This record gives sequence, C-alpha cells and structure tokens, in this order.
Amino acid sequence: MRRSTWPRCSELSGGAFGCLFPLPAGEGDPFIGDVLNATMARMAGTLYIVATPIGNLEDISQRALRILREVDLIACEDTRHTSKLLHHFGIETKTISYHEHNERERAEELCSILASGKSVALVSDAGTPLISDPGFRLVNSAIEKGISVVPIPGAAAVVTALAASGLPTDQFYFAGFLPARANARRTKLEELAAIPATLVFYEAPHRISATLRDAMNLLGDREAVVARELTKLHEEFTRGRLSELAEAFSKSENVRGEIVLMISGESANPESTTAPATSLSKQLAARVDELMRAGDDSKGALKQAARELGLKRDEAYRLMEAQKKRRST
Ligand code: SAM
Repeated sequence: MRRSTWPRCSELSGGAFGCLFPLPAGEGDPFIGDVLNATMARMAGTLYIVATPIGNLEDISQRALRILREVDLIACEDTRHTSKLLHHFGIETKTISYHEHNERERAEELCSILASGKSVALVSDAGTPLISDPGFRLVNSAIEKGISVVPIPGAAAVVTALAASGLPTDQFYFAGFLPARANARRTKLEELAAIPATLVFYEAPHRISATLRDAMNLLGDREAVVARELTKLHEEFTRGRLSELAEAFSKSENVRGEIVLMISGESANPESTTAPATSLSKQLAARVDELMRAGDDSKGALKQAARELGLKRDEAYRLMEAQKKRRST
C-alpha cells in the first residue's frame, strides 16, 4: 500500500515509501535505509499540479496564483504560452519546458530538483495537467520516489462541459481524444457502445463532423451535446440527437474552436436508440462464425475477417472481445 500523506513514526520503519536511495539487497541495515529514505523524502520539495484556465483568465484560483508565485520552478507544456499567463498576473517564477517529447528525461531531472528540496509546479497550456495533457510520467516518478504531490484544482474542459450539458452526470466515462484514423475511431466507438454512462470526448474541429456521423452509425441516434469554446466569448452548447448534430456540423470547414462532445450512455436511451443497422463488430463476428463453420480455426477466421473488413488484427481482436462481453450481459 502506498500512502499520500507524510510518514508517521510507524511508517518510518514500515518501508511504505518508495526508495530515494535504495540499499543493495542483503547489505546494510534495512531500518537505517528506510529512515534515510523517509528523511530524504521529508527534505524533498513538493510537486504541485496546478490547473490553469481553459479560456477565461478569471477562472484561475487564488491558491493557484499563490503557488505559481511561491514555487522555485514552473514546468510548462509550452513556456511561451504559460509566460503570457504569468505576465498577466505579474508572476516572475522561472519556467522550464515539460512536454510529450521530453517527458522521460525531464521527469527524472525534475525529480532530482524536487529531491534537492526545491518545489515545482506543473502546468499545461490550459486546464488540468494530465487530463489529455503531459504529466503522467512526472507524477508517477515523484510518487515512486516518495515526493509529495499536491493537486491545485481548477478548470478542466470535461467537467465544465458536462456540468451544463443537460445529460446525466451521475456517471460519465471520459474517453479523451478518439483516434484520428477512421477505422481505429470506429473500433473505439464500438468498444464504448455498451457503457451505461454519459460518454465524454475531446475532439478537434476538423474531425467533429466525421465523429458525429460515426457515432450515429455505431451507437444509434442518441441524445448528444457539442460544447464549443467553453468560458470564452463565443461559448456555445448545441444539443440534439446525433443525427441532428451530424447535420448541424456537416461542413467541417465552418467549424472552429475547441470542442467537447458528450453522448448519452447506453441505458439513457432504452427506447429512443435507433440501433445501428449492422455494426462493425456484428459484421466481424458474423463473418468469423461463417469462416469457422467453413472449417477455419478461430485465429485464422479472425485474421481473414479483419482483412476483409479493412481492420488491423488488434482492432479486430478488441472488437470481438467487446462483442463477446455484450453478448454475455
Ligand atoms: N488539460 C485540458 C483540460 O483539463 O481540459 C485538456 C487539454 S487537451 C490537449 C485540449 C482539448 O480539450 C481541446 O482539443 C478540446 O477538446 C478540449 N478543450 C480545452 N479547452 C476547451 C474549451 N475552452 N472549450 C471546449 N473544449 C476545450
């Protein structure tokens, strides 16, 4: 078990914390090793995960501003982008880049800085770091090393959109960005079809039209909402059935801005869902059955059916698993 509070006496000898300075196996006094590690962890600085606005600068919290002012270093997805925010609030803290291309090395570098007693704030370009944004490696690595990780909450497009969507919020499934490739996107939608919770996606404006069409074909004509430009001047919620939204957003060249797409879950549409005519997974399962009846083994049948439907083998496998799960419920 790993705890996220500082070690109490009982934890000092319990080795509940990750090793900053592991002693070689079988050597040294394990108790002293644990005490040393816990002491070093206590001397380490804190990693703050700071949410920043997703549009409206007034949405930053007093606490976030104080932390950004007080830390030794701010790790930013894009230092130029964040420096505009810092400049707006008169914050002069030093910044360093931390993005998807240097995550691995930077996570270790930042952990060394934290271990030396300095405190670091992690921010992304907008919203909450790690939510479809970099930061996972750093947080994971800090936790492993016993460094304290403190979240500073604020805006996240997923929750902001959901709160005003009018769709059920008691359960929701955040799926992040759908794959850009059409086949992979369809496979993913198929996998999500049976989930009885509101589905939430981040989507790019040039793909929303294709995604709405695919969602309608694969999930049925469910209630959905497109939330655009949240907290900004041209904030807009478009509500309706997927068929209506597909029509409204059919000209992708006219769609601009940042988008959250929400689709009601399986159970929210008991009688209204127009079941998709022949879903990809049903076609796949039917073809696999057919090939197996003709003598193919299951592996060969799946390979052949995937090829015929233009699917990659791992996509086909995932679809078959999702279809099996649906059949068994
Ligand atoms: N970390 C961010 C968060 O907490 O929401 C998300 C970062 S992700 C790279 C960017 C995507 O989030 C956008 O493509 C869009 O789908 C969504 N998003 C961010 N800001 C938004 C806004 N103001 N209105 C609508 N969607 C937004």
